[in-house]
Amino acid sequence: MNYTVQQIAAITNSHTIGDKDLVIKNIAFDSRIIYSTKNTAFIAVNTHKNSGEKFIEAAIDRGIDIIISEHHYPQFENITWIIVENSVNFLQKLARYHFENAALKSIGITGSNGKTILKEWLYQCLWNEFPTVKSPKSFNSQIGLPLSLLQINSTHQLGIFEAGISHPHEMEKLENIFHPQIGLLTHIGTAHAANFQSEEELIDEKIILFRHSEVIIYNGDNSLVDKKIKELYSSRKLISYGLKESNQISIKNHPSKDEKIIVKYFDEEISFPVHQRDEATLTNALALISVLKELQIDNQKIIEKINTLKAVEMRLEAIEGIKNNIVINDSFNLDLDSLKTALQFLKEYNKSKKSLVLTDIVGVNSNSKELYEEVSELVNEQQFDSVFLIGDEISKFKELFKSKIYTFISTQELIDSKHLTDIENQIILLKGARKFEIEKLKDILELRKHDTVLEINLNALLHNINYHKSLLKPGTKMMAMVKANAYGLGSYEISEFLQHHHIDYLGVAFADEGVELRKKGITTPIIVMNPEQHSYGAIIEYNLEPEIYSFRVLELFYEAVQKSGSDKKYPIHIKLETGMHRLGFKDFELDQLGEALSNKNLKVQSIFSHLSSSDMPEEKEFTLKQLEVFEKNSAYLIEKLGYAPLRHILNSSGITSYTNHQYDMVRIGIGMLGESPNSEIQKQLQSVVSFKTVISQISIVENGESVGYSRKYKPDHAAKIATIPVGYADGIPRLIGNQAGNLGVNKVLAPIVGNICMDMMMINVDHIPNVKEGDKVTIFNAQPSLKEFAGYCKTITYEVLTSISPRVKRIYIKD
Ligand SMILES: *Cc1c(COP(=O)(O)O)cnc(C)c1O
Repeated sequence: MNYTVQQIAAITNSHTIGDKDLVIKNIAFDSRIIYSTKNTAFIAVNTHKNSGEKFIEAAIDRGIDIIISEHHYPQFENITWIIVENSVNFLQKLARYHFENAALKSIGITGSNGKTILKEWLYQCLWNEFPTVKSPKSFNSQIGLPLSLLQINSTHQLGIFEAGISHPHEMEKLENIFHPQIGLLTHIGTAHAANFQSEEELIDEKIILFRHSEVIIYNGDNSLVDKKIKELYSSRKLISYGLKESNQISIKNHPSKDEKIIVKYFDEEISFPVHQRDEATLTNALALISVLKELQIDNQKIIEKINTLKAVEMRLEAIEGIKNNIVINDSFNLDLDSLKTALQFLKEYNKSKKSLVLTDIVGVNSNSKELYEEVSELVNEQQFDSVFLIGDEISKFKELFKSKIYTFISTQELIDSKHLTDIENQIILLKGARKFEIEKLKDILELRKHDTVLEINLNALLHNINYHKSLLKPGTKMMAMVKANAYGLGSYEISEFLQHHHIDYLGVAFADEGVELRKKGITTPIIVMNPEQHSYGAIIEYNLEPEIYSFRVLELFYEAVQKSGSDKKYPIHIKLETGMHRLGFKDFELDQLGEALSNKNLKVQSIFSHLSSSDMPEEKEFTLKQLEVFEKNSAYLIEKLGYAPLRHILNSSGITSYTNHQYDMVRIGIGMLGESPNSEIQKQLQSVVSFKTVISQISIVENGESVGYSRKYKPDHAAKIATIPVGYADGIPRLIGNQAGNLGVNKVLAPIVGNICMDMMMINVDHIPNVKEGDKVTIFNAQPSLKEFAGYCKTITYEVLTSISPRVKRIYIKD
C-alpha cells in the first residue's frame, strides 16, 4: 500500500492530528516485531481480550511517528495520529478499499485443514511465474486478513490469501473485504466445529467466501460440501478434487511407495512424483495441481515445481528415535480427522510393533462417550502394543482400548514414569492436543544423531539487527551481507529469516549464491559484489543486481542486458574507490562514468564504497578521509546522473562508530552475528553462534605415555584426557593444538593437547571435577568466546566462522 495519512482518513472516515501528508506504506500491529519504521504506522488494535494501546509507547520508542488508535494520547509529542472509531473496522475498511482498487488476480483459501500448507506450496510454485503476494504465516483472521491484503502493491500480479473463521458470521465480514477470483476450499473437518451447531452450518459459513468468485476449486470428498457448492454456485466454473473417483480431479492408481501417482485431470492423465503417501498430503497435492492447471501452468513445469517443493511445516514428522524406534510427532492438534491421517501415516512404516501416546480431544461439542468410542475403534484397528493416555477425560474411557493401557494426568507424569524410554524397535505415534505439550516427549525419544553442531540462534540475530537499527535514523535502509554462505551459517536460512523481517537488501559475493536464494524463494533485492563475466546471464535471469566497479564490467554487463532483450532500466550499483584499493571507480574516472551511464538503459540503484578500517579507532583519521572522499565523489556522480540513487558506505563497525555517515543505507555483517570490536557495544549484542560437541571418551594417560600423532604430548603425571570428535577437517586449524587453544567443559577451559587430528582432538580435563563421557564441550561461543577462539587461531572471527566445514550440522533456533 502507499497512501498519505489524509487519504487514509478519507477512505476510513477517521480524523487526523498532525501531518496529513506523511506517507504510510506498512502498518505494524505488534510493537515487538517492528523492523523498519520508515513509512510505517503502528495500529493499536483493540479486541475484546486486549488493548493494543498499551504498546503505543513502545512503538514510539522504536521510532514510529504515525499512530492509528481509538484514543489520542497527547503526552507523546511530534506524532501524527489517525483517530478511529473502531480499530478492527478501520483495518477492514482500509483493506477493502485497497483490495478493490488493486488490479491483481487473487486466490482465496478457506477450509479446516491445509490452508497454510497450500498457501505456502502455491507461493513456492508461483512466485517466479507472477510477482506474488501472500498472507504471512497463517494470518487469516478478522485482523490477519486485512493486514495481509494491505501488503499488496502495484507490482503484484497475484495474491494468495487465507481466510479462517472460528465463529458464525465471521466469513460474512471477511467476504465483505476480500473477493477472490479463484476460491479454494480445502478439507472441512471438525477442527473448529466447537462453535458451530452442525457441520452444515460450518460449510454454509465457509463457502460464503466464494460469493464473488469466478472459479471455485473444492475438495469434493465430503458429499455435503459437493452438494452445497453445486446448489449455490451452479453458474460458476466448479472444479472438484479429492481422493474419491467421482471428483473431476483425483488419483487413478494406488501407487506403492516409489511409484508415481497418476492424476486424473478431467479427461487427461498426468503422472506426478509425490513422495508422501498419507491422505492429507495427496489431497493437498491434488488441490495444488488443480490451481496450477487453472492458471495454465503446463504439465512439465508443474512436475518440476512439485519436485522442488519444500515440505512446509509438515504436521507429521517422522524422526529417528533412540533404541531403534521411529517417532511420529504430531503434537500440533488433535481431532478425529487428523487422528485418522496420523494412523494412516503409520502404515507407511514396516515395524511390527507400535505404541501410541494420545491425549484428551479438546474443543469439540460432541458427547464424549460417543467421541471416545469412535477414537477407540480407530485405535483398536491398529493393534498397538501399548497405549499411553494423557488427560482426565480420555482416561475415563480406558476400558474401551484393547492394548496395554497406561493412564496419566499430564505429560510430565508420563515422562516421570520412564515407561517410554523402555520401548525398543517400535514405531511410536505422538498425537495430542496442543495444550498437553507432548512435543516434550519428542525431545526424550529423539536420537541425537549429531554430537557436533553449529547452533544458530535467530532470535539473537534479530536482536542484534534491531540494536544496530536503533542507532540509525528510522528511514535508513539496511542491507544484510549473506555472502560466503552467510559467514558460514547458512545463507538460505538466514536470508529467509531476514526476508521475513523485511530486510531491505541482501548482499552476496557471487551470482550463484544469489541464484540459489532466488531458486529457494527469496524475493528481497540481492546485490552481487563480484559479478563474474560468465554469470551475467544468470544475474539478469534471476533479477540480481550487480556491483559495477570498472568500465570493463559496465560495458560487458550492459551488452548482456541488451542481449537479454529486457526493456526495463536494469538496476546496478556503482562502487567507488575511496582508499581500500580493492575495487571501484576512482575520482578521475567520474566524468567518463557519468557519460557512459547517461546513454544506457540502466538505473543506478545505489552508489557505495567500503571502509577498510572502521573497526580500528587508531585509523580514525584515515577513515574520516575515506568518508570525505566518498561524500565528494558520490555527490559529483549524482550531479552528473541527474537523479539521486541510494548511498551507503558503513559496515557493522561503521554503523556503531561513524553513525553520522549512514546516508540512505548501511550494510551489516558480523554485527548481526553478535560480534563487535568495541567492548561497550559487545555488551549490548547477543551471541548468535555456538559450536558444540560432546566428549567421546576419557582415558587416564600415565607419566611416560603420550597423546596423539607424533607423541607431541607427554604428561608428567597421570592425567585425565578427553577425546573430542572434531578435527581439522571440521575447520579447526592445526595451529591451536599443543596447548595453543582451549575448549570449554562445564564452563571451565581445558587445553587442547597433542596434535589436532583430521576428525578428532584431545583435551586435558584433569582439573575438571565430575567430568564424564558424553558431557558437552564448547568449542566456542561462551567459554571460550568466539573472539577468544579466534585469538587462539591467530585470526579474526570472520575467518573462524567461514572455515567451519559444511559437514558440521547447522541447527537453527527460533522462538
Ligand atoms: C562483507 C561486507 C560488509 C559487512 O562487513 P562487516 O564488517 O561484517 O559488517 C559490508 N560491505 C561490504 C562491501 C562487504 O563486502
